[in-house]
Amino acid sequence: MTPKKIGIIGAGPAGAWLAYRLAQAGLEVLIYDHKVPWEKPCAGGLSSVLWGRFPELDPLKSQGYPNRKFRIVTVLGEKLESEVSHPLYTVTRKRLGRFLMDKAASAGAEFSPAKVDNFTRNNNGVELIDNRGGRARVDFMVGADGVSSLVRRKLCGAWASRNFNYSLSVLIPKPVSVPLTFQFFSGLAGYTWIFPGIDSTSIGIGAKAGRYKAETLFSFLAQMVSKNPELSGLNLDLRAEAVAALIPSLTFSSFLRQKVVGEYWALAGDASGAAHPVSGGGIHNAIFSANLLADSIISGNPRRYQQDWRRMCRQELTGASLWGPIFYRPGMQKLFSKMIAKSEAARALTVELLPGGRPKRTAVLLKLLKAVSQVLI
Ligand SMILES: Cc1cc2nc3c(=O)[nH]c(=O)nc-3n(C[C@H](O)[C@H](O)[C@H](O)COP(=O)(O)OP(=O)(O)OC[C@H]3O[C@@H](n4cnc5c(N)ncnc54)[C@H](O)[C@@H]3O)c2cc1C
Repeated sequence: MTPKKIGIIGAGPAGAWLAYRLAQAGLEVLIYDHKVPWEKPCAGGLSSVLWGRFPELDPLKSQGYPNRKFRIVTVLGEKLESEVSHPLYTVTRKRLGRFLMDKAASAGAEFSPAKVDNFTRNNNGVELIDNRGGRARVDFMVGADGVSSLVRRKLCGAWASRNFNYSLSVLIPKPVSVPLTFQFFSGLAGYTWIFPGIDSTSIGIGAKAGRYKAETLFSFLAQMVSKNPELSGLNLDLRAEAVAALIPSLTFSSFLRQKVVGEYWALAGDASGAAHPVSGGGIHNAIFSANLLADSIISGNPRRYQQDWRRMCRQELTGASLWGPIFYRPGMQKLFSKMIAKSEAARALTVELLPGGRPKRTAVLLKLLKAVSQVLI
């Protein structure tokens, strides 16, 4: 049966998109967020897959910066610079938040600028209790409340630290004229980035949580800044300006085990763990998971979402939880450097994958085999 009134906790990409879809379908929607629109720590990179899948987002392109130039720097200092035909747009989170909330509001969703502190199940549905003393009864509740989701912790338990990446990032309030950059370092199972935008630039570092001291991550980030004159000239005070944040990075078994829907509740976006375990990209899958959840609620069978979410993860995320740890082994990082230096196939594949492209698995395997043979022979 289709629930009539839905309470959504969190108005990030997952919650706002869900609110838009459900309100558009004529359901009563109440969406909470005490911060949105805000500069959530995020590089704001939106891949071509997102634009292809959700053409309704196209007007956002005019508020973003189309990154066509890419640079990859490997652990051995090999550089790959390239241009791509499908740019990766960077859009600040405040702009993305405002755009999505406007869409939800114009479809008829009701917004509450409050934080949900608790919820209780009762015979008539769920009661949501917020930090302003408000109480609202809804038939169905969705936790779209991000990586540290209250709804997930209360209903499914806390995740172990191996299910998170830890990041330090700075949003520099000016554009920087460098290609969109990913830099790898010997001894780091992660990467640093520079994501230029229209009027700001995100730089940062992400790696498996619990594995490194903050000191170590700051020193890698400082190395990246010092090697880029456009950044070192800005005299950034990384320790004062960097913001720490977690990103879901589920292990293979956590992807298999994660429950995302129950009798009166569901999880979407980061709250469900739907971010890429290696790149940390999660905006696309936040919207994609919310879209699947909207379809299942509107069809009157919210429980169907569990299998749809699993299929999405199988197609887009689960594999990376297996190859990610292998890719970051020191030997593999060196092999990757050699492949970038010597193999045309490896360079082509990297350029295809890094902006968030999704080539067919068999095509990836064939190119990988060709690349390895070009290096070894
Ligand atoms: C440093 C960094 C860089 C990143 N860069 C990229 C990138 O370039 N591209 C990409 O695709 N992804 C990136 N990501 C990941 C991306 O930010 C997330 O995957 C994405 O924001 C998930 O969307 P969401 O809607 O699930 O959650 P969120 O965007 O986290 O939204 C959750 C919302 O819920 C609200 N909320 C939380 N608790 C409550 C409560 N109790 N009551 C009311 N509201 C609540 C919060 O205020 C927040 O607005 C990055 C992440 C980090 C940390």
